[in-house]
Amino acid sequence: MKNQNTINVSINRPKGKYILPLLKGMCYTLRQLFTKPITIEYPEQKREVSKRWRGLHRLKTNDKGDLKCVACGLCVTICPPDAIKVVPYEDEGGRRYPKEFIIDEIRCIFCGFCAEACPMDAIELTKVYDYVDYNRNDFIFDISKLKTPEKFIFKGK
Ligand code: SF4
Ligand code: SF4
Repeated sequence: MKNQNTINVSINRPKGKYILPLLKGMCYTLRQLFTKPITIEYPEQKREVSKRWRGLHRLKTNDKGDLKCVACGLCVTICPPDAIKVVPYEDEGGRRYPKEFIIDEIRCIFCGFCAEACPMDAIELTKVYDYVDYNRNDFIFDISKLKTPEKFIFKGK
């Protein structure tokens, strides 16, 4: 006696249906073998960033190597996240310098307002975008670090 619960399932597999897509896939793979790769060997290789890119800051110097900054504090006032600290100093000749100039690069939102507001063209945002470290304190840049942001480009291990 035939079991009433038996369900007959027939799978319709048309012959050759998968051959064409398979060949197409293999052709695509083969073509990629002879195509120039679009990936790069980061961090040894770097991509060019946009001209408008805003990365780590640089404090600019004049021909004598002195900071152009006169510690006016405009950048401090305009900075939205309060990431800049400037301690002014005035020498006997009345020349003003920043005794201390600190940017917290973690607080910074890289808006570029500080560079735009600066009346002395003393600060700029560079194209350095991949500074990495394990310690938050290392992201607090003082004058010596701000003079040479390129030193902090990530080069791998
Ligand atoms: S880029 Fe913007 S957030 Fe960063 S320090 Fe300058 S003003 Fe502040
Ligand atoms: S960087 Fe420019 S805006 Fe900021 S304190 Fe120096 S001179 Fe003033």
